[in-house]
Amino acid sequence: MDIAVVGGGAVGATLAYDLAEDAEVTLYEADELAAGASGRAAGLCYDAFSDRRDAELATRALERFRGLAGGGGFAFTDCPYVWLVRETGEEADERRAAEVREQAERMRDHGLDVTTLSGEEVAARFPGVVGGDVAVAAVAESAGYADPESYTKTIGLLARARGADIREGTPATLTEDGDVRTADGIEEHDAVVVAAGAHTREVVRDVAPIPVKPYRVQALVTEAADADPPMLFDATNGFYLRPHGEGLLVGNGTEPVEQDPDDWDREADTDFREDCVTYQERALGWSWPEARSWAGLCTATPDGDPLVGELADGVHVATGWQGHGFMRAPAVAERLAAQVLGEGEGIQGFDPRRFDGDEQFEIVEGMDVERR
Ligand SMILES: Cc1cc2nc3c(=O)[nH]c(=O)nc-3n(C[C@H](O)[C@H](O)[C@H](O)COP(=O)(O)OP(=O)(O)OC[C@H]3O[C@@H](n4cnc5c(N)ncnc54)[C@H](O)[C@@H]3O)c2cc1C
Repeated sequence: MDIAVVGGGAVGATLAYDLAEDAEVTLYEADELAAGASGRAAGLCYDAFSDRRDAELATRALERFRGLAGGGGFAFTDCPYVWLVRETGEEADERRAAEVREQAERMRDHGLDVTTLSGEEVAARFPGVVGGDVAVAAVAESAGYADPESYTKTIGLLARARGADIREGTPATLTEDGDVRTADGIEEHDAVVVAAGAHTREVVRDVAPIPVKPYRVQALVTEAADADPPMLFDATNGFYLRPHGEGLLVGNGTEPVEQDPDDWDREADTDFREDCVTYQERALGWSWPEARSWAGLCTATPDGDPLVGELADGVHVATGWQGHGFMRAPAVAERLAAQVLGEGEGIQGFDPRRFDGDEQFEIVEGMDVERR
């Protein structure tokens, strides 16, 4: 079989690697590998999903990350993921606290290693984390983090070594028949998978409409910090952080507004950068100077679930990750590759044809999707 992949992010590069074991693969990347969200992501990886499908995908993805680590410059660091709610007296936080307890219970039902902790237990287990006002926390014990850019470039190299033809600097769109159109002309393949991130809707426009909206999220890394926290998501404040080199990576800064994927602000907002200082103080009792900050594009769908699978005869898509695409990429690509090759059960439940493509919807911040 001869298969085209459009987009060389974490998803497309892993697809190229998996498909190249059994097929001839051409990957068309507009810029260079990891030029999109995968080169701007925070790299948190966890299995803390209360939906069974997501939990299975994330568990398998963690296995694959750990299997790849150590070779070709890619590193995966084990680190627990703690998400917590603070006592504020607000109704919203009481609701969030109940949700954290329920989510952790459901995750344990799926066989995930998830612990529920009180505020005192958080402070005792993670010295340095401000825990006195924590109403409840949950810990995904088998989580970790990685650099998404180095993952994508490493898996791209491995795909090349398997014979995949990776064409960087080659933007592509699809014709209405699902053939690949580039500046050099039109090429036919037996099947095509489009994993072009925020550009996926434009790439498949002539095949069928898909309801995906790009939106901005932001992150910042600090100078060296004398703190050794776990990965932390504070549902009360809507921010997360993780260790990053000698310092910290702090993120969220979601702007729930649809962006033009060819015209958006790549710099972090001043408000976001100031809020990162406040959040570090809130979470760790101290803050450290900013080393750099940036924005990137995530993709939202009407129901918060991704669009993965066959869109039209021989045309597949994989997008709409709501900020959780890197941590699921190795598993999604593995299953989607099997589906394209007609092997295995493929991906269940994320059929892109569940929508007409012209749905009107609000963008829901990725970290809140789990709560719906
Ligand atoms: C600040 C930030 C923090 C994040 N943190 C996390 C996190 O901690 N954990 C997590 O799981 N996820 C996180 N995400 C989300 C994550 O980055 C994405 O879900 C994931 O990288 C999506 O990968 P992808 O391969 O689908 O898309 P992308 O990485 O966007 O790749 C798409 C590729 O397609 C290429 N392309 C576009 N148009 C064309 C065209 N016409 N022809 C050919 N190629 C084209 C682009 O150049 C790009 O390389 C974060 C995102 C951001 C911005």
